[in-house]
Amino acid sequence: MRPGILFPLFSSISSLTGVGEKNAKLVSKLAGDKVVDLLWHLPYNIIDRTYSPALANAQSGKIITIKVKITEHIVPKTKKQPYKVICSDGTEEITLVFFKVYSQSIAKNLAIGSEKIISGKIEVFNNIIQMTHPDYIVPSGQINDILGLEPVYSLTAGLTNKFVGKICRQALARVPAFPEWTEESHKKSLNFPSFNEAIAKAHNPKTLLDLEPASAHRMRLAYDELLANQLSLAIVRSRIKKQQGRVLKGNGLLRKKMLDILPFNLTESQEKVLKEIFADAAGETQMHRLLQGDVGSGKTIVAFLAMLNAVECGAQAAIMAPTEILAKQHLETLAPFCEEIGVKIELLTGRIKGKNRKKILEELKDGKINILIGTHALFVEDVEFKNLAFVVVDEQHRFGVHQRLGLSNKGDKPDILVMTATPIPRTLVLTAYGDMEYSKIDQSPKGRKPVDTRVMPITKIEEIIKSLQIKIAEGKRAYWVCPLVEESEKVDLQAAINRYEILQKYFGNHVGLVHGKMKEKEKDEIMERFKKGKIKILVATTVIEVGVNVPEATIMIVEHAERFGLAQLHQLRGRVKRGYEASSCILLYSYPLSEAARARLKIMRETEDGFLIAEEDLKLRGQGELLGTKQSGFTEFKLADMSVHQNLLITADKDAKMILEKDINLKTPRGEALRILLYLFERDDAVKTYLAG
Ligand code: ADP
Ligand code: MG
Repeated sequence: MRPGILFPLFSSISSLTGVGEKNAKLVSKLAGDKVVDLLWHLPYNIIDRTYSPALANAQSGKIITIKVKITEHIVPKTKKQPYKVICSDGTEEITLVFFKVYSQSIAKNLAIGSEKIISGKIEVFNNIIQMTHPDYIVPSGQINDILGLEPVYSLTAGLTNKFVGKICRQALARVPAFPEWTEESHKKSLNFPSFNEAIAKAHNPKTLLDLEPASAHRMRLAYDELLANQLSLAIVRSRIKKQQGRVLKGNGLLRKKMLDILPFNLTESQEKVLKEIFADAAGETQMHRLLQGDVGSGKTIVAFLAMLNAVECGAQAAIMAPTEILAKQHLETLAPFCEEIGVKIELLTGRIKGKNRKKILEELKDGKINILIGTHALFVEDVEFKNLAFVVVDEQHRFGVHQRLGLSNKGDKPDILVMTATPIPRTLVLTAYGDMEYSKIDQSPKGRKPVDTRVMPITKIEEIIKSLQIKIAEGKRAYWVCPLVEESEKVDLQAAINRYEILQKYFGNHVGLVHGKMKEKEKDEIMERFKKGKIKILVATTVIEVGVNVPEATIMIVEHAERFGLAQLHQLRGRVKRGYEASSCILLYSYPLSEAARARLKIMRETEDGFLIAEEDLKLRGQGELLGTKQSGFTEFKLADMSVHQNLLITADKDAKMILEKDINLKTPRGEALRILLYLFERDDAVKTYLAG
């Protein structure tokens, strides 16, 4: 249960003064729907309102805060004219200018003869001082309503900084006096203020330095967030290590058969990783292991051999793919092998219905099916196995720690192998998968040729189409990717359609188009035709659609490559790196080209090493955007910024492990404080699952 001390922070934002129904929607879009979300919405700049000169000496373009007396109103004659109010501070006059406002309310608020304090930016034209729409107009006694140094928050349309500042201050006022969860010696050596001091300072910056992520109070907050994250993962990890699992120690017969028919030898890296997996599987505790390997490094066969070990033990195994297309692809890869070695494999997706579905479900329950392939969604529902002992989760960007928890507590406590094709920098592995053991395939199969990567401006398109004509005539196949940016999906889709139509002029019906707005079935049909070679150029809008293995496709053309993140570009290029034929990747860019975009394209030209690319990506963008938007499933931090706080993460991770060594149930006074921390940062899954009571 959430500690009572946190209730005021976890109530709805509409409990704040001034937040009505309409504002609540905007605020929740901006920061979140709980009061605590506003705490994490930190200012990024300061407006200095301390400049308070005599009007006669005021500098144009500056923000001033002064006391004035209202002397005259100039009421507009037409709707287009502004309403003007003349005031004076005794040294000079100033004209306040209002567009599109109710005359009545101005007349009332700025009554002639009254005194007000105003704050806003002034402009001086021909010795006339003007202020258009003052930021503040307050009665002369209420100067305290205007902050000398006003924090500037990011906003969303419909909200003013004044309003957001006000509700953030209300949120701040609800922060209770927290017990200290950081160790005193630690706090000293890192020069940390308390959490309460830190959060107050973060919302009340006095200098620009106070806004720096490397300032002591921001570091403290980042540390707290990281500690909460690492501690919750460490709790999961410590419990899973204790959890009785299955001993999976097969006789090796199926695996031997499989290796005999495999047309290649495993790489050293694959062998090493398999050893790690088999050792885990043979152990008495439940396996929870992450398998990282770049696109094309050969994870599928590793996963398959690992599943065969379970089948040798008379148990069942399952592999979960993120999409139907990828699930089908696994079936196509594995079914022929299964047939030869006598293992029954089936595919179950949301689209398999009726009799077929019923039959599969029955055979799963009877144990007739040895290996099941499905999508993530499927496993959330109740698919009943006779004896599920090994689960592979493939390319699971959307599969967070709580989902893993759900899975590992399912039925027979199966061993879990999570595979990801996204190279993840070491530090991020800690934050996203700190609850798991870790294996890495760091070598790609022999004989792969490097991809010939070129970066070109879109103006060269004629040239590119010409050389594409030659390649297509030689029987090659190509992807042509047009990016989709969320905000303007329609426009982008149109761009892809236009490109498709232009290419049709050159290539006729050898061109196909897939995009996210199509029905699954249509998509599948087109993919099928591309696989079979009826379509030679596949124009696609999204990355997902090309997450498919077509070994014959050796050319990747990416339009607006400057809009893609490094990780995405790397994934895209990976699509044509599968065969043994020489392949090429053309990254087309359009202007304007930002500094960061230029750097990304340069890296793409220089290296194919996914891990290096991921590290560079982290440096260039910070972890927030690492994989492009939210799909990534990476832990999103609100206060910690991995491009600045990496060292803090490592400290927090060590700290978390040490805490559990001393106080596994978080029962000491510091443990109790840490429970509050876990709830404060909403990392309480582990507490609920393992520390209840
Ligand atoms: P990914 O890691 O992206 O899932 P796959 O498992 O799909 O990679 O493997 C990519 C391709 O490389 C497949 O065609 C697979 O058969 C092949 N492959 C896997 N391991 C080896 C190996 N040791 N030697 C040669 N080819 C391999
Ligand atoms: Mg794969």
